[in-house]
Amino acid sequence: MPIREYSAIDPKKSCSHCKVRFEQVEPMDAPAGNVCPECGNTVQRQISAPSVGGSQSGFDDRAKSAGFQKLKKTGHGEYEKKY
Ligand SMILES: [Zn+2]
Repeated sequence: MPIREYSAIDPKKSCSHCKVRFEQVEPMDAPAGNVCPECGNTVQRQISAPSVGGSQSGFDDRAKSAGFQKLKKTGHGEYEKKY
């Protein structure tokens, strides 16, 4: 099931749960929720980057800049360091 992220439209009226951002696991066919389950404040769904089908090159750039190394498996127990 996908995890959807919500944050309060008006942070001044929000509780600690929805003030910044909260995640909610919902069935794929569930309608997008629009209120915080804790305080009932109006929230809006955050669009997060898709985990599949997105730009892999963009992900690589971000991972690289974050200091991660990407290793490509080239054989039995052997890895090629891509960067
Ligand atoms: Zn709330």
